[in-house]
Amino acid sequence: MEKNKNCFASDNYAGVCPEAWESLAKANDSFEISYGDDDWTAKACKEIRKLFETDCEIFFVFNGTAANSLALASLCQSYHSIICQEVAHIETDECGAPEFFSNGTKSLLVPGVEGKIDLTAVEKAITKRSDIHYPKPKVISVTQVTELGTVYTVDELRAIGELAQRYSLKVHMDGARFANAVAALNVAPKELTWKAGVDVLCFGGIKNGIPVGEAVIFFNKALAYEFDYRCKQAGQLASKMRFLSAPWIGMLESGAWLKNAAHANKCARLLYDKLSKLKGVKVLFPQQANSVFIELSPAVIEKIRACGWHFYTFIGSGGARLMCSWATKEEDVESFVEDLKAVS
Ligand SMILES: *Cc1c(COP(=O)(O)O)cnc(C)c1O
Repeated sequence: MEKNKNCFASDNYAGVCPEAWESLAKANDSFEISYGDDDWTAKACKEIRKLFETDCEIFFVFNGTAANSLALASLCQSYHSIICQEVAHIETDECGAPEFFSNGTKSLLVPGVEGKIDLTAVEKAITKRSDIHYPKPKVISVTQVTELGTVYTVDELRAIGELAQRYSLKVHMDGARFANAVAALNVAPKELTWKAGVDVLCFGGIKNGIPVGEAVIFFNKALAYEFDYRCKQAGQLASKMRFLSAPWIGMLESGAWLKNAAHANKCARLLYDKLSKLKGVKVLFPQQANSVFIELSPAVIEKIRACGWHFYTFIGSGGARLMCSWATKEEDVESFVEDLKAVS
């Protein structure tokens, strides 16, 4: 199998970027205090606070499912509910972990176009019932970049934050691809988070070039109360924490976190430009970050897969999802489009 033909399957198919790798190697030079009380972790937290231009509580966990589930669990009691989009990763791709770690908090699904939550539907879910028999809405969860590759604007996020505040709900952001959203919108990270009312952000590093370790960032510090215990109980407290945190230093100090995301977005734009010109290819959603979703006939899917190309058709909407990463090359884009032309 030609490995580069895997390049559109997922951004977590890509390896570790040089900046993260270098930091990891540096962190391997000495003895360090374990369980997160080391200098690397302190420095990574400092860099993250600088990036968001605010004080905040930061925890590193092994993956995005743990980050989302534990963050959500810390915002809810078991009798509460979490409002999210129908295709949200927390609903469709985490094997019930948010419910598990929160001891049964229910998700309430709302529709919305292009992977975003519809605010009228959110308000309806909040106000529908106020009796004791309904799981009390407590959190609005948004995914930025959404599962369908679209990006919430600053105004959209502010409106969500205002709605949450009006009804005393908290806001959780699944930012597995947060960097791609920042690169796409070209705004300061604070504008998409705490300034818009986000209480906790799960900031993804893995899909953007880090080997392992997502950052859970509590802008509302009170909500981080005993979060360390939650991580430990869930098996998410790394003993050699420096290997989760050090790559973040390399990414943030060098600017690679944003450079990588911008590169992935650019590749997706190139792919979009070429694909949208092809006859018989229907692009399903606006291309705003690092993915392009297209509709292809089953026969074409079979033929393009027979050329060696690997991509998923079950994520999001059922279309073919082509995902770009920091490691995607422009010639991969060209080569995919040429093969698709040949088989269409
Ligand atoms: C990849 C991803 C995650 C994290 O998934 P893990 O496999 O648990 O690291 C979370 N949310 C979204 C939207 C994702 O795409």
